[in-house]
Amino acid sequence: MAVMFAARNVTKVYDMGAVQVHALRGVSFTIEEGELVAIMGPSGSGKSTLMQIMGCLDRPTSGTVELEGVDLTQVSDDRLAEIRNRKIGFVFQQFNLLPRLTALENVELPLVYAGVGRRERRERARAMLEAVGLGQRLDHRPNELSGGQKQRVAIARALVNHPAVILADEPTGALDTATGTEIMQLLVRLNEEGHTIVIVTHDPEVAAKTRRIIHIRDGLIYRDERLEPAAAAVAAGGPGQPGPASARAAGGQEVAGS
Ligand code: ADP
Ligand code: MG
Repeated sequence: MAVMFAARNVTKVYDMGAVQVHALRGVSFTIEEGELVAIMGPSGSGKSTLMQIMGCLDRPTSGTVELEGVDLTQVSDDRLAEIRNRKIGFVFQQFNLLPRLTALENVELPLVYAGVGRRERRERARAMLEAVGLGQRLDHRPNELSGGQKQRVAIARALVNHPAVILADEPTGALDTATGTEIMQLLVRLNEEGHTIVIVTHDPEVAAKTRRIIHIRDGLIYRDERLEPAAAAVAAGGPGQPGPASARAAGGQEVAGS
């Protein structure tokens, strides 16, 4: 399997003037294509900082991060933004949907930025919403959707441009337990279909549904735990979510726009 992320001695210091916050103190790991990984640690341990660096939203203070062999610390800001748009699909705790747009329009948005034509946008956004079980909610606005449905829209939006990796920061953090479990089942299924997924969470039950837990505390990785595939599958409730997978490109080769 190809290496997706390679982080070496990554540090991040937030300079607050009088105070320096050492959010990351030297973390190293590799994540391979096709993995389903949780980065787990308590509040303030540096999870979101790490995810922002992996997601090309921020840069480390020192160390290197490679994404598919490209050292993100060596590229220009423009190139970094381009890599982010092409390779990263984000899912956030608070969904971050645009309230005035319908579910379909929210999912279309990355394709608008990628320069995909209107008809193809519609088709791909609709297929992706159907794949996450929301084919009946295309024209609903976020305030007409439940929390779990909103997160499904956000996951469809993250996937629609065929990113190399999905980065999800506390994706179940705003959901009740049952709905959070459904969202985890969806993420497990997407991983089984070939998507590389990294989930940041403080919740051991969420982390237990992945295949690997990178434990972080005070800006340091102190344990890298591989879970039994069978245990992960059982914990996730196994497959059983309906929904066509045919609309999805397994490889992510098909990058729209230029
Ligand atoms: P987590 O996501 O695990 O809760 P964060 O990565 O958000 O942790 O934060 C790690 C540490 O860095 C915390 O002490 C936090 O207060 C600090 N921090 C995070 N973002 C900033 C920022 N933009 N400026 C200053 N300090 C920050
Ligand atoms: Mg956080």
